[in-house]
Amino acid sequence: MRPARALIDLDALRHNYDLARHTSQTRALAVVKADAYGHGAVRCAQALEPTADGFAVACIEEALELRDAGIRSPILLLEGFFEASELELIVKHDLWCVVHADWQIDAIERVRLKAPLTLWLKVDSGMHRVGLDSAAYKQGWQRLRASRNVKGIVLMSHFARADELNQPYTQKQLEVVQSIRGASQAAISVCNSPAILGWPQVLQAHHHTDWVRPGIMLYGASPFEHPQGLASRLKPVMRVTSRIIAVRDLPAGEPIGYGARFVSGRPTRVGVVAMGYADGYPRHAPSGTPVRVNGQPTVLIGRVSMDMLTIDLSDLPDSGVGCEVELWGGDVSINEVALQAGTIPYQLLCNLKRVHRIYTLQ
Ligand SMILES: *Cc1c(COP(=O)(O)O)cnc(C)c1O
Repeated sequence: MRPARALIDLDALRHNYDLARHTSQTRALAVVKADAYGHGAVRCAQALEPTADGFAVACIEEALELRDAGIRSPILLLEGFFEASELELIVKHDLWCVVHADWQIDAIERVRLKAPLTLWLKVDSGMHRVGLDSAAYKQGWQRLRASRNVKGIVLMSHFARADELNQPYTQKQLEVVQSIRGASQAAISVCNSPAILGWPQVLQAHHHTDWVRPGIMLYGASPFEHPQGLASRLKPVMRVTSRIIAVRDLPAGEPIGYGARFVSGRPTRVGVVAMGYADGYPRHAPSGTPVRVNGQPTVLIGRVSMDMLTIDLSDLPDSGVGCEVELWGGDVSINEVALQAGTIPYQLLCNLKRVHRIYTLQ
């Protein structure tokens, strides 16, 4: 069997969820969209269900996967419904739903439902992607309040730059949300992972009935480019490993792999690893990207191909065919691999495929 593996540590997932809730001192929806950022939504939700206040997914298909697996906690649809016909299913499966556009409000007013909805009405406080703008928000809120199809509304928004810790834009977005909330006691939800970890002043605006929405931090990757205090307490959940399947001794000056992108200036012992971009390892990772062989550090050399990549074993004379290679997750930081490859850990995690996932839970 091909030795590529993703070891998923569900205890680490629980630890990270507890950190989100402890730090925010309020309720937390565990964001498990995109198959729990590549970790397997059902297994992750099952591991969190005893303690989690609820879950958030992108769409109804993802929510129904969790309901079918027996998850009974609240589940929020972060992009709301895409067509009005979903509303009946939303009621049937007791889902919460984001509303971000006027046409959705129209649809909610028009439909006849068996039970009223819990809605999260989204304001565009500066992301400028989806959400009602602040001028239209009050009217949208009043229309929903007046509808017999609605039983509760949470005021929500999303930050565009919370991962930039010296950027005043987050504070500006928060002020928009606060001006809309005014003196009302409306529950709000604004915090993603970078806001939970890096913006205590934003958290202070919350009270105990509010909600935070941790995603990437649950999986133990940092949302920040630079080391950060609270983020350093996260535990990586996914550890991706494979094995060396061949070894080559090359004299100095011989190229390795597609495009001859790497030519060593010294005699080089090359290890070939069963891992490639078809598994989700980034093709843009350059020579020099860190890996570990049986726990010892070395680097990627040459281009990543679909099913294989090559690493430098010259300084690891005891290594050979069969040795375990860690690509990220334990000693190799996924943030470092992402940075080298010109991407973010979110994308590396979501892109994982073909690799066999193995779960552990104490
Ligand atoms: C994905 C998502 C989150 C989680 O974001 P992280 O940066 O992964 O914590 C929170 N809120 C919304 C609306 C999202 O779409």
